[in-house]
Amino acid sequence: MKVMVVGSGGREYAIGLALKKDKNVEEIFFAPGNGATLELGENVEISDFEELAKFAGQRGIDLTVVGPEAPLVEGIVDIFRKYGLKIFGPTQKAALLEGSKIYMKNFLKKYNIPTARYIETSIMEEAAAFIDELTPPIVVKADGLCAGKGVIIAQSKEEAKEAAASMLSGEAFGPAGERVIVEEYLDGYELSIFAVCDGKNYKILPAAQDHKRLLDGDKGPNTGGMGAYAPTPLIDEELYKKIEERIIAPTIEGMAQEGVPYEGVLFAGLMIVGGEPYVLEYNVRFGDPECEVLMPLLKTPASELFYKAATKQLDSLDIEFYDKYAVGVVMASENYPYGKSKPSEIIIDEIVHKELAERAHICFAGVSLIEGKLYATGGRVLVCVGIGDSIKEARDYAYMLTGQVHFAGKKFRTDIAYQALQVNES
Ligand code: AMP
Repeated sequence: MKVMVVGSGGREYAIGLALKKDKNVEEIFFAPGNGATLELGENVEISDFEELAKFAGQRGIDLTVVGPEAPLVEGIVDIFRKYGLKIFGPTQKAALLEGSKIYMKNFLKKYNIPTARYIETSIMEEAAAFIDELTPPIVVKADGLCAGKGVIIAQSKEEAKEAAASMLSGEAFGPAGERVIVEEYLDGYELSIFAVCDGKNYKILPAAQDHKRLLDGDKGPNTGGMGAYAPTPLIDEELYKKIEERIIAPTIEGMAQEGVPYEGVLFAGLMIVGGEPYVLEYNVRFGDPECEVLMPLLKTPASELFYKAATKQLDSLDIEFYDKYAVGVVMASENYPYGKSKPSEIIIDEIVHKELAERAHICFAGVSLIEGKLYATGGRVLVCVGIGDSIKEARDYAYMLTGQVHFAGKKFRTDIAYQALQVNES
């Protein structure tokens, strides 16, 4: 099978690595890929989706897997299908679950899927009236995609009104903020659940937890994610069942009823309040770095999972996972997430420790090949992933590997998976 992966980050590298180990896969393409995906396959420098679809047809690519949300929201799946090509991901309409928070909230309400109480509006007076009904903190969200910055948790009614006014005026986020959601604050802990879907059937993957803040102890600014681990002990059988019955199953059924069957990865960002799950948001793709810790746990060949999902055959798949844990530690550039950093050569020590070589690997993200040498050129540069029989063991291998990787200004959190380790100790 020839497979193309769309995207250029650590998530796409992790999918590429899983495909590389897969006996059914003979060739891998990355569009556009990064300086390290060249080791796994061929990089394709075509950004126009029509042209990329033609390329896929000409080269006999059997399946395309889309990593990031932007191409999905822009309709890459619809274009590939028009050419009769197989592609794993939601259509443009289904991608609205991530592309429009209002679409998502109204969908949840219609199908009685638990979520925070809210209103959606483009009128400041309506926003202000609902804000007055709530007790701070109050959450104000822009409708459209704002690169993860469109959510304000206001500590007072005044702050909430200011946030709503600045979004509605177009000042804060342009057209993405012309409609807003005001919602009640949910006080609990967050969990990410990923389901691979084919429009009708779904397979839930082990629950992962990411670490959004830049600094240890969940301090500092939000980032794209500084580390992740899976499976997490923060979920038990009972909660898992509630999530499946109240959230995942009705979402898949509801989308089918809406005439927009959901295919691809459904990423449910949940808040667990007093043992009950609520949907905070949906994303229409894998999380990054969650994908980097989920892919190595997948025992089923990755090509089989994605191909069956893309061809509505998931009911015939008995998905299997290794009975292991994975921990991923993101190594970022000096100025991340504030600004660009100077490109810096990456030196990786030869890994002489046999067990470390077997139990840990790197997923490359913001890297470029310059005159044959690998340079750190992005914000999040790479992810050191450790695999173990316990979270602690996986964490230790991941951190051992960080010690072998060098580039100027490298930084990483030293406490990835700390919540899981606290749960296990208590
Ligand atoms: P979202 O993009 O909607 O997931 O929001 C980004 C982050 O804001 C979430 O990961 C939560 O940490 C926080 N958040 C969003 N909505 C709420 C809410 N209703 N209550 C508490 N925290 C929230």
